[in-house]
Amino acid sequence: MKPLLLPLLLLGGTLCAQQTDKGLSSITEAELRNHIFFLASDYMNGRVSTTPEYAIAANYVASQFKAAGLQPAVPIEGGEPVYMQGLPFARTVWNDKILWTVSCNGKETQLLHKSDYKIMQGSNLNHENLQLVYVGYGIEDPGQKWNDFKDLDLTGKIVVCLSGTPRKNGEPVLPKEVNDRYNGRRGNSMKVFSGIMSKGAVAVIMVDLDGSSGQDFDQANSTFTAERTVYKGSQRAGRMGSFPTTYMVKPAFLDLVMAGNKNNPNLNPDNVLKNYKPQALEGITLNSKVEILTEDVLLSNNVIGVVPGTDPVLKDEYIVVGGHLDHVRAQQGKVCNGADDNASGSAGVMEIAEAVALNPCKRTVIFATWSGEEMGLLGSAYFLESGLFPKEKIKFNINLDMIGRTGKGNEETRAHYVVTDKKYVQELKTFINDLNKGVTDFPILIDDDEHSPGGSDHMTFIQKGIPAFFFFSGIHADLHNPGDDPEKIDYPKAAAVSKLGYLIALKLGNMDVVPTFQ
Ligand SMILES: [Zn+2]
Repeated sequence: MKPLLLPLLLLGGTLCAQQTDKGLSSITEAELRNHIFFLASDYMNGRVSTTPEYAIAANYVASQFKAAGLQPAVPIEGGEPVYMQGLPFARTVWNDKILWTVSCNGKETQLLHKSDYKIMQGSNLNHENLQLVYVGYGIEDPGQKWNDFKDLDLTGKIVVCLSGTPRKNGEPVLPKEVNDRYNGRRGNSMKVFSGIMSKGAVAVIMVDLDGSSGQDFDQANSTFTAERTVYKGSQRAGRMGSFPTTYMVKPAFLDLVMAGNKNNPNLNPDNVLKNYKPQALEGITLNSKVEILTEDVLLSNNVIGVVPGTDPVLKDEYIVVGGHLDHVRAQQGKVCNGADDNASGSAGVMEIAEAVALNPCKRTVIFATWSGEEMGLLGSAYFLESGLFPKEKIKFNINLDMIGRTGKGNEETRAHYVVTDKKYVQELKTFINDLNKGVTDFPILIDDDEHSPGGSDHMTFIQKGIPAFFFFSGIHADLHNPGDDPEKIDYPKAAAVSKLGYLIALKLGNMDVVPTFQ
């Protein structure tokens, strides 16, 4: 029994306090250990979202939800509701002989993937007769009064851009510091991400005239894989597709699309600046269509159960306690077990579910393990988009993503993170610290996202204006590596974090009004 509950018992708040205690004591290290050893065993092969092993993991969670007495949340037409909410994926096989048709004022030329151009990144490879725009080096630097995008409209167009930086007699024209930023491989990324794509272009074709990208056309590997699993839900959901499509071509490409144009940089490869003029290439378009050879539909499930609220009015408001169940593929033949990331969080969700089921709240508490987090927060985004529960009635999301280890730099204190958006930090600090008296024997560090490895499912909720945070171990060497094994989990810590999560869920589930925490 936790000391903080004693005064309540003595004061006669016995029923409530005893039930709270029943919930707390149902969260055990032994059960967490069982869940994590099951989910993070080698047999589960990393629980990649669209694999049979993931389906087994999801089934395991559903069976635990059922045993704990949670109600299935997903209606089925003409049948009983189920725990599984299926996200649509497809396993597609594409023809990798992708042809580009470049049309120059009506005259068509065909170019072949791998021999004439290569795909360097991105997956949006279908372009329907899009106009080309030549942007020179693609540099915009107000400090140098240099703007390659001046008066150009890139919206919906394909951009042709030179690798590297402007030179005269082999020497950079721009000051070293500016030049270095735009030069070499990373310089290209910088141009593509912060320059070209932000102006609405749909794809970039990079041309390397002088080897400055550090990547030779013949040596460069196309990132295209003919067989892949593609998410078929709303593209707005999740962050998939956020990599702009970037191609690499041989310099001869310029002679095709800038034939007869005195600004063709190929005419003066040693002094491109001689006739330098970024410009729309009027009448020049590119068409590309990837042929799908086979496509098999796959479903990967979120697992969703609820503990219905006990208050006739507040039961129509929701607190979501979730964590992602999926992890990543093997590396060099070694399974990435994802014991901390995120068998631990999934186990925590199951334990908190069991505890809340023993002690239901006024509000309905939704428990979920998400699919597709590692592929771009797909499962949580799909859940919110699906309208299974109205967004405006979801008052808070507690996300558990890694609750069983301690990140670099905190080894001594075993501190654990609560990571949230800046705007929630101050209010959450007080709220959580008040509930944490005596629950954890390590510090809880409440912070905005500087310790986050690129966000987790709570981001989906925050983006919709729903306050949320995630429990997070911090960065450690085994993250997304084969070493993330169940033997290395700090089980007392995972249990303490789950207990704290339970108390937070209980408080949020029962208070008169859930604050906005801003
Ligand atoms: Zn994770």
